[in-house]
Parts: sequence; C-alpha cells; structure tokens
Amino acid sequence: MTPDHSQRPLTFLDNFGHSLRTPAYLYQPENPDGVRSIFRIAKQEGMTVALRGAGKSYNDVSLNGGGIILDLQKMNHILAWDPTNGVIRLEPGVTLEQLWQHVLPSGWWPPVVSGTMTTTLGGCLGSNIHGKNNFRRGPIGEHVLEFTALLPSGAKITCTPKRNGDLFRAMIGGLGMLGVFTSITLQMKKVASGMLQVHAWNVPNLKAHLDGLFEAAPQHDYTVGWLEATAGGNGLGRGQLHTADYLHEGEDAEAEKTLQVSYQTLPSRFFGLVPKSILHYFMAPFGNNLAWSAVDTVKYYMGREKTYRQSHAAFHFLLDYIPHWELAYGRGGLIQYQSFLPKESALGAWTEMLKISQQRGLPSYLGVTKRHRPDAFLLTHAVDGFSLALDFKVTDRNRAGLSRLLQDFDRIVLEAGGRFYFAKNSETTAGTTRRFLGEEAIAKFRTLKKRCDPDGLLESDLYRRAFEG
Ligand SMILES: Cc1cc2nc3c(=O)[nH]c(=O)nc-3n(C[C@H](O)[C@H](O)[C@H](O)COP(=O)(O)OP(=O)(O)OC[C@H]3O[C@@H](n4cnc5c(N)ncnc54)[C@H](O)[C@@H]3O)c2cc1C
Repeated sequence: MTPDHSQRPLTFLDNFGHSLRTPAYLYQPENPDGVRSIFRIAKQEGMTVALRGAGKSYNDVSLNGGGIILDLQKMNHILAWDPTNGVIRLEPGVTLEQLWQHVLPSGWWPPVVSGTMTTTLGGCLGSNIHGKNNFRRGPIGEHVLEFTALLPSGAKITCTPKRNGDLFRAMIGGLGMLGVFTSITLQMKKVASGMLQVHAWNVPNLKAHLDGLFEAAPQHDYTVGWLEATAGGNGLGRGQLHTADYLHEGEDAEAEKTLQVSYQTLPSRFFGLVPKSILHYFMAPFGNNLAWSAVDTVKYYMGREKTYRQSHAAFHFLLDYIPHWELAYGRGGLIQYQSFLPKESALGAWTEMLKISQQRGLPSYLGVTKRHRPDAFLLTHAVDGFSLALDFKVTDRNRAGLSRLLQDFDRIVLEAGGRFYFAKNSETTAGTTRRFLGEEAIAKFRTLKKRCDPDGLLESDLYRRAFEG
C-alpha cells in the first residue's frame, strides 16, 4: 500500500558529525515493495529521493533538504550464510556489527571494514569504503560477488563483476544515485583466530611517516598511521604507525575462545568504572587547540615501540569504544577532510596543507593516514599513493574560515594530481569533481543515470553540490 504523503511531517536529519541539519520527508521501507511505493510517491509529487543507511557519512551525501529520505535500516536481515565457503547474502540495512558478529564464530571476518561498525552494508557499497588493508585488498566492492538492485525506473537488476559489469562498477561507489541495493552477496575472509598481532612505533615527521606506510603496507595485512596534526616545525606530520597481521593456524592456543563475540565485545565501562556512554562529556574540555596540542605531545613522548595482540573489533573499531565521541566536538560538530594523493606528490602537498591549517589557527585534532592502490570503480577515490583524513571542529566563529581553508586544500590536492572521497568532504564543488574524476567518467555516469533513473528522482544535497553546481 502506498503511504499517504500529505500527512507526513518533516524530520530533521544530520550528518555523522552533526555539523549539517536539514529537514526531509523520512520513509523507512521494510522491503523492496515499500521502496517501489516511495518512488511512486516521489514521481507523483515531483520530489527527489536520497538514499540513507545509518547516516554515518561526514557530509551531505545522505541528506536531501526538502525532499524525501529513503532510510534502508529496516531492511536488515541476513538472507543466507554458508560457513563452509564464507559467502553471505544480506539486506542493505545490515550493519558491519551484525555482519562480523554473525560470521566470526565460524572463523570468518569481513574483508573490508570502516573505522566504525555502525555503518550499513548498503551505505558501505554506496561509498565503496576502504579499510586499513586497502593496499592489499582494495575497497569493499572488490569482495562483492553479486547484488540485486531496484532502479527508480521500476526495473530489478542483478549485477556481478561480469554480468551488467558497467552498472556493477558504477553503482558501487555510486552514492545511491542510480538505484537501491536490495540484496548484497559478499565473500568473507577466513581467519584462524579472533586476535591480530599488532606492532606500533613512532615516526618523527611526515617524510618518515609516509616512508613507513610505503614500506609496511605490502608486508602486513593492515597498516594505518595516526598523525598529530597539531605538531609543527621539525615534528610536522609525526605520529604513530600501526601494522596488524592475522594469526596463522595454531598460533592462538585459545582460538576457540577468541573467535567468540563475547571475547571481542568492547567493555561497557572505561577502567571498569566510568560508563562509556558518558565518556564524551569528559572529552569535551579537550576540544580546543591548546589542550589538544598538549594531549598530542604527551601521547607522542609516552608512545614507545611495542608489539601486542588485539581483538579484531578493538583494532578496527577503536572509535566505537567511546559512543558518541563526536559530541565532544561541541555544538557546531565536526567535519572530516580526506584527500588521496599519488605517492610522488603527497609529501609536498600535505606539508603545505598542515602548515597553512596551523598558520590560520585551524589545526585538525585527529589525522589518519593509509596506503592505497587504484581500483576499477567508476567514481573511484583511490590512487597509487596515500590518504590523509583530518577531523576539524566546527564553530560559529570558524565556519567561514574553515570553508576557505578546505577550498584551498582542494586547490592544493588538485594541483598535486589527487582525488577526493565523497563520504567525507563537504566543500568539493562540481568544478573540482570534473577535474579529479575527468569529463569522460562523469559523462559515463550521467548516461547510466539516465538509463536507471530516467525521471531524475535520485538526488542528494551532495549530488546537487558536487555534480550539478
Ligand atoms: C567513525 C567513522 C569512521 C569511518 N571510517 C571509515 C573508513 O575507515 N573507511 C571508509 O571508507 N569510510 C569510513 N567512514 C565513512 C563511512 O564508512 C561511510 O560514510 C559509509 O558510507 C557510511 O555508511 P552508512 O550506512 O552510514 O551510509 P550513509 O552515510 O547513510 O550513506 C552513504 C551512501 O550510501 C548510499 N546508500 C545507502 N544505502 C544504500 C542502498 N541500499 N542502495 C544504494 N545506495 C545506498 C547513500 O545514498 C549514500 O550515498 C567512517 C565513518 C565514521 C563515522
């Protein structure tokens, strides 16, 4: 039955960092027929529709001011699981948390995960997420065996890397602008233990940081860097690198125990005392430049080279350890800026960016670096190089300056031959998109969009900003 649109109130929705907030008509279908009826409403009412998973993107990619938001979180069933070969089929609203908890006890782990387990698989495919193993294993799209999708045209389509391959490579990473994933089939990765062998060490500056990532990434299952964006002078770009490796059969005497969900689950109290749910209140006083710089310095000098074992969940989802940590950034929220640069130009470009952000009194409080390789998806953000993700606190006072800073970053990244990730950046203009993706890729995307969505129903705030502006 088609819901009555005339009675529906507007709902305010925001991005992950709570820096944007827009009203929309919210629908939460429970099955593909429900999705179909919302496309019918949109067509009748002359409205646009944006798709939304868990809304954990840092920008406006799953917002649609004044239009319809199709929230797919209620389509969250695991449809089939074969622990003999690690193939799983699921609905798009299943979260990474549901997924790893379902497969780990049989000795499997998702091949690619984001830094939070709260994202949905539909959202992960919509952005084509990358993990700390991007250099070794590519983005999540490379582990999709098949998906079915409902197109706004009403057609249902099945795609594999070979069957409808052009749509396969355009819908994965396609920002929900071509159709709705209704079921996703993924290949899991076999693991012999619930633990990873982690090695951590300090790097004194940006050159050592990038050299370390470059050398470590081919040799380890996961490699990531934590960069102190508040450190200047000779210490610009310093931080800590972490590598992690799967354990081989027989290396974990307690494998049966460590593969259990209860062993992985992050404790609910910090130091056994403070409930995690209120920890972000204690972090709030650190939300200014001086305090954060002091925290960074202490962290760096206390840090020493160490090797230890850590559960998969603790290694990957460190940020989930403190629920709602983003609230510590205060009323204005936070945004993230992630740039991807070729290995040859990353050092120069990021040196310039880190320096100007410090000179303007707008340092990032958290920087994360990774090593990447290119992939074959149409709207790809990957390069043979590195990425640097920088978190920025937003306030009423710094909003305009921050926006100018990020536009200057865009210019530096473009001149250095870099790319951008649509799940993160909030300033990228249509001109920038044309330059980094190239006219040919955009024309191909538009042709596919016309085919899948002839009435132009699918639109988001990001699509209008970064593709049509
Ligand atoms: C703490 C944190 C850490 C993160 N770490 C990483 C990381 O390590 N690597 C990384 O790549 N990203 C990372 N991200 C970003 C995050 O993984 C992506 O933004 C992801 O797309 C969010 O998924 P979601 O379910 O919240 O989707 P949303 O943000 O709601 O939507 C994302 C996109 O998917 C589309 N979409 C949603 N459902 C469907 C569907 N059924 N069919 C078609 N399209 C759909 C939406 O239209 C939108 O374009 C991180 C985010 C946070 C908050």
